[in-house]
Amino acid sequence: MKAEAMSFFEWQIRFPSDEACAQFLAERRWPNGFICPQCGHDKAHLITLRSLYPCAGCRHPVSVTAGTIFHSTKVPLRKWFWAIDWISSDKGGISTLRLSKLLAISWPTAHRMLRKWRLAMGHRDSLYWLSEWWELDDALVGGQRAGKRGRGAERKPPIWVACEDRGERAGFLAMEAVSQVTHPHVADFAQRRLRPQHTVFTDALPALGRLQDCHIHCPRVTPPEQASQWLPWVHVAIANLKRFILGTDHGVSKAYWQAYLNEFYYRFNRRFWGPQLPSRLLNLCVDHAPIPLS
Ligand SMILES: [Zn+2]
Repeated sequence: MKAEAMSFFEWQIRFPSDEACAQFLAERRWPNGFICPQCGHDKAHLITLRSLYPCAGCRHPVSVTAGTIFHSTKVPLRKWFWAIDWISSDKGGISTLRLSKLLAISWPTAHRMLRKWRLAMGHRDSLYWLSEWWELDDALVGGQRAGKRGRGAERKPPIWVACEDRGERAGFLAMEAVSQVTHPHVADFAQRRLRPQHTVFTDALPALGRLQDCHIHCPRVTPPEQASQWLPWVHVAIANLKRFILGTDHGVSKAYWQAYLNEFYYRFNRRFWGPQLPSRLLNLCVDHAPIPLS
């Protein structure tokens, strides 16, 4: 699906009302015009408040949000669409509190919207394999520091960080939270995300020893002060992640740690696409299956 590059101003003009948003979803669902799934009739009239198109033939109500992450939402579509533009355009992400204030919705509702986006982002990028040359390392983010206690200082579960090395720049990035840094965890991560028989650089952590079973493993025992020279791109990614976490919700609870990682690496992997980002996220929301949350 083509992603249109749009400025904030153009986005507001494109989606000025719930009706315009519903119309966009309808055009995506029926690119050749409305077709009733019950009787095949080709006419319906939008009921904007409920995002419904009741069929003019059989009166069957067809929802334009069905099959998308907007499914069954009580939040007006315009708020969803505007928020998609805000969170995509702001490099630092957006906090739950700020989103709730911008949209005049409750904190739990804003939190649920953000959780849905982050889950969808993780699902999208979990489809990609890292290939050619890449670096792999483990990292801990957070922890108690002098003068920095409380929520923001909470120790998070360790993460695996894998980043393609494209020479002058970082390529695709993957991050995954694990309960422990052990061989079974890294084997599972590598099996799902790292293309076999390609080259991986590591710091020779014992848990990584058996990567050579499936990959061309280049380990090097590295003093901490030299780690960023041997594995430069994973260290750039980790430094950026720390800034991102501080800038969004000023510390993240363990329960949603992977969700924040999803959002971070989704953004990182699209950092050169600038004005296309809102359209790309909107496409993801439309293409992704509904996400029921407990
Ligand atoms: Zn019908």
